[in-house]
Amino acid sequence: MASKYVNVREYTVRAHKRLIRTRVFNFVCKQCNQSTKRETYGPRPLYCERCRPPQASRKSIMRSQKAKPRAMVYNSEIDFN
Ligand SMILES: [Zn+2]
Repeated sequence: MASKYVNVREYTVRAHKRLIRTRVFNFVCKQCNQSTKRETYGPRPLYCERCRPPQASRKSIMRSQKAKPRAMVYNSEIDFN
């Protein structure tokens, strides 16, 4: 196939909805080295569904987003009157 380099200008994309579809990838799992296939929206997965269950990974992402620093209440002996 022919290929060439083209210049891509910088541009911003407005918020919009886009319909994306899943693709089924056939690949070898990096953890158990079993050839498997997996349906994903994103790029080629690295691990099979047994090693990386989809729900568990989603939960871990949610947890990391929630782990924000919180304002602490410090108890002090000093009274501000
Ligand atoms: Zn695996």
